[in-house]
Parts: sequence; structure tokens; C-alpha cells
Amino acid sequence: MTQKENPTTAIVRMEKVNKHFGKLHVLKDIDLEVMPGEVVVVIGASGSGKSTLIRCINGLEEFQSGHIEVDGNELTPHGKSGRALQKIRTEVGMVFQQFNLFPHLSVRDNVTLAPMKVRGWSQEDAMETAERLLERVGISDQADKYPAQLSGGQQQRVALARALAMEPRLMLFDEPTSALDPEMIGEVLDAMRELAREGMTMIIVTHEMGFAREVADRVIYVHQGEIAEEAPPETIFDSPNDERTRSFLSRVL
Ligand code: ADP
Ligand code: MG
Repeated sequence: MTQKENPTTAIVRMEKVNKHFGKLHVLKDIDLEVMPGEVVVVIGASGSGKSTLIRCINGLEEFQSGHIEVDGNELTPHGKSGRALQKIRTEVGMVFQQFNLFPHLSVRDNVTLAPMKVRGWSQEDAMETAERLLERVGISDQADKYPAQLSGGQQQRVALARALAMEPRLMLFDEPTSALDPEMIGEVLDAMRELAREGMTMIIVTHEMGFAREVADRVIYVHQGEIAEEAPPETIFDSPNDERTRSFLSRVL
């Protein structure tokens, strides 16, 4: 809450972050700041390091040098972050390409589990929140079903509700619509658009360029592990400054 009232403090601050997978230098001197309420879209070719970049932010990947601060909690290289890492994991919500719901739990239980286990909420409070969130993403009528009984678009909206149930300060999305049939992409993007409108801080990896243009405050183009260009969507899509951005967009647009 305090951070929202102080818009000059970044929620995410990455400084000179380097990440290697063995000999592969995947992230190269990444500098990135994200302010409260900002919607940042990350674009780039497959294999350029987009997933690794956002996975570093919630400690799903270790990095080898530099530092990352998330809402005042500092992640240090080589995964030696201890309590800060735990804190970040509870404050940062993530939605993946593959929805990663718990298959043996009902929709409702998927949403209430973490608030009860991690936040210590009562079942009653967790259920109330779950109802509200499922309503908000338009699937309150599916609460008693199991993930396998839902369409991909519905499952991804459950995944979103589940992440929001933890009252995250920041939401990370890694290609949330890439595994969906085309007719279901819109319903997930609509839910994300709504969230952006409500002021959630979001970092979104996506290939949905129309969506990026519409919701992003800033677009980041990642090329071979580097931030090649970072600009408002109009600049990136209409008059990119970097030849590599131009070349990438000419291939995907
Ligand atoms: P993107 O999300 O932009 O497609 P990734 O961040 O997934 O890119 O991957 C960046 C590079 O790191 C790729 O060359 C990929 O093959 C490699 N990579 C990703 N994860 C691993 C891993 N766990 N072990 C080894 N290499 C990996
Ligand atoms: Mg990826």
C-alpha cells in the first residue's frame, strides 16, 4: 500500500543482471525498473531470454551477477536470498503459458489453497475472496468443477484468479495466451485488460502485439539476452529506433 502512495519508488529494480545456463549467456546486463501501476510488455524472438528475465524477478531462476529488488526485498546472485525470496514469492503472482492448476483440486480449492496455507486465512475468508475473484474473471459458475473439465480459456482465468487471491503487489505473465485456441484468447486478454485498468503492476511476455499496443505503458524488446529497445508502444510499433526491433516486428506483424 505504501508504495502505491509513493509513485517514485520502483516495485521492480534490476541492475546489471547477468544469467548463464552453463556456457550460454542468457541475460546480459539487464537494467530494468518498473513503477507501481505500470504495465510493461516484453516482446522478442523465441529463445531471446524473455521467460528467464521474468522468472528471475520472482526467484524461479537464479542469476550470477547484478541485483534484483522487488518491493524492497533484495534477491542476491546464486540464489542466496533466503527470506527475501519467500517474501517475493508471496507478493508476486505469476501466470504461465501452461496453466499449472492443481488437477486434483476443484476450481474453488485451487483459488483458496495458497491464501489459507501461506497467508493463514480462514477458510471462510478464502472462500469469500475466491467467489469474488471467480466472479470477476467470469467463471463463478465453474467453481465446483475440476480443471480438466474446463476449456483452456477458463483454466487460464482460474489461474489468474488463483494468483490474485494472494493479493499480489505485482503480476508476471509468461505468454498467457500462447497455449489457447484462438477463440479463447480474447477472454483471457479481457481479464488482463481489466486488471491493468484497475492499476495492477504487470509485466507481460506476449506475442499479442495488438494487446501490447493497447495496454502497455512501455514495451521492451529483448534481443539475444539484451534489452535492445525500451519505449512507449507507439514508438516501438510505429517508429522503432533500433534496427533489430524493426527487423523483429517486420517478421511478426
Ligand atoms: P524465451 O522465453 O524468450 O523464448 P527463454 O528465457 O526461455 O527464452 O530461454 C533463453 C535461452 O535460455 C534459450 O536459448 C533457452 O534454450 C535457454 N534456456 C532456458 N531455460 C534453460 C534451462 N533450464 N537450461 C538450459 N538452457 C535454458
Ligand atoms: Mg518463453
